[in-house]
Amino acid sequence: MATPHRVVIIGSGFGGLFAAKHLRRAPVEVTVIARTAHHLFQPLLYQVATGVLSEGEIAPATREILRRQKNARVLLGDVTDIDLAQKTVTSTSPLGTTVTDYDTLIVAAGAGQSYFGNDKFADYAPGMKSIDDALELRGRIFGVFELAELTKDPEMAKKLLTFVVVGAGPTGVEMAGQIAELSRRTLQRDFRNIDPSQARIVLLDAAPAVLGSFGDKLSKAARRRLEKMGVEVAMDLKVVDVDAEGVVVEGKDGTRRRIDSYCKVWAAGVAASPLGKQLAEQSGAELDRAGRVKVQPDLTLPGHPEVFVLGDMATLNDYPGVAQVAMQGAKHAAKMITARLEGKPDGAPFHYRDKGSMATVSRFHAVAAIGPLRLTGFLAWLIWLVIHLVYLIGFKNRVTALLHWAVSFIGRGRSERTATLQQVMGRRAMEKMRADDPNHWAGLGPLEGLPSPQPSRESSSRSA
Ligand SMILES: Cc1cc2nc3c(=O)[nH]c(=O)nc-3n(C[C@H](O)[C@H](O)[C@H](O)COP(=O)(O)OP(=O)(O)OC[C@H]3O[C@@H](n4cnc5c(N)ncnc54)[C@H](O)[C@@H]3O)c2cc1C
Repeated sequence: MATPHRVVIIGSGFGGLFAAKHLRRAPVEVTVIARTAHHLFQPLLYQVATGVLSEGEIAPATREILRRQKNARVLLGDVTDIDLAQKTVTSTSPLGTTVTDYDTLIVAAGAGQSYFGNDKFADYAPGMKSIDDALELRGRIFGVFELAELTKDPEMAKKLLTFVVVGAGPTGVEMAGQIAELSRRTLQRDFRNIDPSQARIVLLDAAPAVLGSFGDKLSKAARRRLEKMGVEVAMDLKVVDVDAEGVVVEGKDGTRRRIDSYCKVWAAGVAASPLGKQLAEQSGAELDRAGRVKVQPDLTLPGHPEVFVLGDMATLNDYPGVAQVAMQGAKHAAKMITARLEGKPDGAPFHYRDKGSMATVSRFHAVAAIGPLRLTGFLAWLIWLVIHLVYLIGFKNRVTALLHWAVSFIGRGRSERTATLQQVMGRRAMEKMRADDPNHWAGLGPLEGLPSPQPSRESSSRSA
């Protein structure tokens, strides 16, 4: 019996997961390889960081989502190598390396945080890209309030209650707004020595306006709302240094000043997955400044019609790095693959249909640009609520998210305030271990009870 056409998908984010789902009726065998076992709804990470939602609500298990899709399987693995000549993908796990053969490859490994060449900033200002990041930030945000209550030194309390959010795009605006609500509403009655509402929240950006891509009207509306909530909006300021106790910023005239703060959030800049560089080196494709692969109009890699590159890792027609581009790209790739297998013409160019963009500033207040409409306030917030409910995956997650939103937006509470020391320390401890041993997994030391890592090969799910 002929082996079914093997489609390997790297990544279980918006691009990877939706590509797998769109291939459910195709005569193919789909293997999704991702470094996490969950699909992450990144737009709500800030709510996990600020205690509104639990991590499970925005990160359901990928294999649970795909459990009824018989032609799909999910493999945990950190992809380290793509070999375009051999048509193989190599991934690593605590069990060793796995080589997986493909006939068609979809690469949707997304993007990570960029510190614009200053990676040491990451030690003190975590980004917002993963569940780990959000939980670490949750620990830091709630933690500084605890420490401020504890300290007898008023200067120290001030530093502890100063939050700096770097980057005034949607993520930065949402984080600053949520920290403001947390300090002014949620925590109002919880402390005895400090007044949480005195917390200083500074939103910084080198750009001249918040939410610059939303246009002047929405940008100004968002800024007004943030300032009304007590957020200090400081534009045209470049962060030139970050350390444990603060940030140094530089104005357009070159003057520098320091903002003391123990809790910093980095919401500026993205860098595409380093897998893009591998693809570029092997195919001759170009990369843009953010490391995104310049793909053909049909989303394939130049010279490799069997390789699709989607979502945040790819660049085409200046399409933005948003979930809809990844999801629509996934549908396009699945259509192309199915057409080819049916002997129909393929190679149609991908066109992104812009369904609009939105950002919440506070409870009951958002800004939204939908076609020619520019909405602010409650109506925009209602649209935000409905859209996020629709796109959250799984009925169970929608119900619990709705309940948690009711707790936070109608009441004053936050259902997910728990933070552990492990969340706050884990990332840096793991980085230290990895630095001691560059082998990604071996750096974590022997995992009890597991055999020593071995190489393995996966050519088809049926034969594996
Ligand atoms: C905080 C935040 C808020 C956002 N808000 C919005 C919003 O409101 N609206 C909007 O439209 N967009 C928003 N975005 C952008 C949107 O989430 C992305 O555009 C979208 O996730 C891109 O999808 P993707 O599939 O390309 O990448 P991702 O969704 O990032 O998925 C990448 C996948 O690849 C996996 N992976 C990465 N490297 C490897 C490797 N080496 N081996 C194996 N697996 C790997 C990851 O684990 C993940 O599963 C936001 C992003 C962030 C970070």
